[in-house]
Amino acid sequence: MASGELFDKSETLALRGKLIGPTCRLFFPHDPIKMVRARGQYMYNEAGEKYLDCINNVAHVGHCHPHVVSAASKQMETINTNSRFLHDNLVAYARRLAETLPPSLSVFYFVNSGSEANDLAVQLARRYTGNYDVMVMDNAYHGNTALLMDISPYKFKRAGSSGKRDWVHVVPAPSTYRKIFQEDNIDLGKAYADEVKKQLGDLKASEKIIAAFVAESLQSCGGQVIPPEGYFQRVIEHVHNAGGVFIADEVQVGFGRVGSSFWAFQLQHGFVPDMVTMGKPMGNGYPLACVVTTTAIASTSSIEYFNTYGGNPVSCAVGLAVLDVLEKEQLMENAKIVGAHLATRLRQLQSRHPIIGDIRGKGLFIGVELVLDRNTKEPATAEAQRVIFRLKDELVLLSVDGPACNVLKFKPPMCFTKADADLVTTKLERILTDIEDVGKNGTLDSGIESGMKQKDVSLPGTQAFTDEPLKV
Ligand code: PMP
Repeated sequence: MASGELFDKSETLALRGKLIGPTCRLFFPHDPIKMVRARGQYMYNEAGEKYLDCINNVAHVGHCHPHVVSAASKQMETINTNSRFLHDNLVAYARRLAETLPPSLSVFYFVNSGSEANDLAVQLARRYTGNYDVMVMDNAYHGNTALLMDISPYKFKRAGSSGKRDWVHVVPAPSTYRKIFQEDNIDLGKAYADEVKKQLGDLKASEKIIAAFVAESLQSCGGQVIPPEGYFQRVIEHVHNAGGVFIADEVQVGFGRVGSSFWAFQLQHGFVPDMVTMGKPMGNGYPLACVVTTTAIASTSSIEYFNTYGGNPVSCAVGLAVLDVLEKEQLMENAKIVGAHLATRLRQLQSRHPIIGDIRGKGLFIGVELVLDRNTKEPATAEAQRVIFRLKDELVLLSVDGPACNVLKFKPPMCFTKADADLVTTKLERILTDIEDVGKNGTLDSGIESGMKQKDVSLPGTQAFTDEPLKV
């Protein structure tokens, strides 16, 4: 056994099967990976094999970054307590985050997860507006609380869920690839925003008013959807006119990932949401998340908000250290340069492989949509599964998502290099060539077989991995 391990892999797996809830899924359930350490953009399994991590946007500045680890450990040795005591870390961190945001977004609530942040944001919106309903984009995922499961079509549309509540209203995701409009050459930003306006008008006619429109600035689990220019600027106007507020979920896409701006909402020129929620990358793996809003919204609520761990001195020390590293190592600039390089390499693949229907993204947030036919855009779901399983065999971690589970998602730690991009695209090219060759010979398996060729060690109760994508 590797040092630091309590159990060998089969024991860990057996104990997990016995002790852990069956809906807590594993990546690659038919042959899960046991990770024992990580550094930078690499993770190591119990046998010492080194995986290139192309998906871990939580380890934002690199797994186990020494500056972050040291900040956490020093603060842990000194004091860690709740935020009802005065402590400098809380205010120093809030001040530092405020410097990255438009001046109107100036009041912070620190919490421990993206779900807590979105849940609180919706509560604040309801108190501020006096309204209850929520509007979201199709296929969106916003978190795991009861409230957020209800506003996440990604969850409530799946078999076995309780379905859509009547206070939840779903608008089309503003996809420029899978357009819902027949006409060519239309202003997609306006056309999709008009859909929002129309639904808000219909709601008004039935005497319903939304408290909030909640959307990711770039949709991640929904299939890496990049909204067309001009969309959010118009949507927020319609939402305000209808009496609601706009909550931008930056849990996946914030903190410089998009390369050209610190926040993904800033990609839409001049657009300023009423609230922004943040999480995952914020603490580089330490539980740290936040809602930032305006003084007007914050000041309407008189109910005390207490969160035992939110904003504790250790989490704020970690948050400050993450910002230090982002700045010192110029990781936003790196995301821009390496992201552009990765996109170029992927476009070269697209010119040779018809299975690549679309490549879209910003910085180190890129989606590659696989299709069986570029005209019909029929999703190549099994092939996408096959790709990530083959890559896993070659020690590269990539995931797949989107409503048809056919979008390969790149969102690696921000220290990803051009050499990493070259490595993964070279491997991807070989895999796509194999898939196309097998396809031509008419013997393409479902993609599952290639994963099953390894020892089948699935746990009792784990779903087939095509049921739900391998999401992080
Ligand atoms: N919002 C988005 C867009 C997410 O992707 C996630 C997590 N995948 C969440 C919110 C919830 O974050 P957490 O898992 O930290 O609760």
